[in-house]
Amino acid sequence: MTTFFAPHAWLGDGVTSNVRITVHSGRISAVETGALQPDDVSLPGLVLPGFANTHSHAFHRALRGRTQESGTFWTWRERMYAVAGRLDPDSYFALARATYAEMALAGVSAVGEFHYLHHAPDGRPYADPNVMGQALRAAAREAGIRLTLLDACYLAGGIGRPLSGVARRFGDGSAAAWADRVGALTPDEHTVIGAAIHSVRAVPRDALPVVVEAARGRSLHVHLSEQPAENEQCLAAYGVTPTQLLADAGALSENTTAVHATHMTDSDIALLGGSAGTVSICPTTERDLADGIGPSRRLHDAGVAITLGTDQHAVIDMFEEARALEMHERLATGQRGRFSPAQLVAALTGHHALGWPDAGRIAPGRRADLVAVRLDSVRTAGADPAQAVFAASAADVDTVIVDGRVIVSAGRHVLGDIAALLRAAIDPL
Ligand SMILES: [Zn+2]
Repeated sequence: MTTFFAPHAWLGDGVTSNVRITVHSGRISAVETGALQPDDVSLPGLVLPGFANTHSHAFHRALRGRTQESGTFWTWRERMYAVAGRLDPDSYFALARATYAEMALAGVSAVGEFHYLHHAPDGRPYADPNVMGQALRAAAREAGIRLTLLDACYLAGGIGRPLSGVARRFGDGSAAAWADRVGALTPDEHTVIGAAIHSVRAVPRDALPVVVEAARGRSLHVHLSEQPAENEQCLAAYGVTPTQLLADAGALSENTTAVHATHMTDSDIALLGGSAGTVSICPTTERDLADGIGPSRRLHDAGVAITLGTDQHAVIDMFEEARALEMHERLATGQRGRFSPAQLVAALTGHHALGWPDAGRIAPGRRADLVAVRLDSVRTAGADPAQAVFAASAADVDTVIVDGRVIVSAGRHVLGDIAALLRAAIDPL
């Protein structure tokens, strides 16, 4: 049993000063206010609940700082496919371990990995057809964060087009074969097995109900209307928007997380709200890929829970994602205060979208996920703790505790030099 003392802690919807948080067997057993006691472990600054990164493709980290010459989303995708073609289980593990450790340094305690790089380069399954997913599990375990493996059904190279080239690695041939393979994966204390529909481009309409059935009771994620071209192709092929297509297939529920939801009609927003679903907004990716600014506040008003993801990892800084949620709204609407600091912290801690409903709050009985953020750095000095989310960056994260285990201390990860791990993983690719 350990008691941590926080000068400031985020309890409920705001900041409380002089908080003692007692942790026992990975859970928070008591939260009380009071002075620092001799046996307490003192944390600096502001202590927040651990962050949930609800959308990740770990291997995209290899593209950071390498695709910025010019081009579109679709030319970026060609570069991404080139990396995807070179990875094997060992290099996938090494890259994911370093990327997840970078996330831990940014305060992430659980990640939703949208995993579609399943098979060997020629498209044939490995001897263990889940070896790539197992590499991600091992990577998260070593990096000290929890994993929700969102294994993605990916059957087509566009509506009505077969998979070709590198994309053959993504496909199982049929939704039933995908469900069989994913059915062999078992959860554990640190891993939730979820499911994903890659997109309406990659999963034909008649296959959607098979995925929905296999995913029943689990987290189900889907890329939705990231680019206008997806909407146009879906309308041309099926006569409905991607959101309507998913709704008709029964794919929208309180277990569903729509990723991006950038180009949405009024009725799309109402459908997502009516299903009590969640969205994963990935602001730094959406601006990097010139996707556009989605209707985040309107989704929130319709009853959709907002969470955040770093997606392709052009940036891994959850504070930057949270701020961007508000700042992009300001640019799009000409209004400030579209999301309050408390709403941004709620978006940072969307563990429910990853199947960890017992994480995301500093309260008795919850998982002991804590992030201590310095309030004495050049970025944060002088900031009101209640508004620190508007000042802090990943570089201000001092201590990260996941399920009661300290994995980052004084800004250092238990695996050591993470920049060196990233270099070693990316250089050979
Ligand atoms: Zn994505």
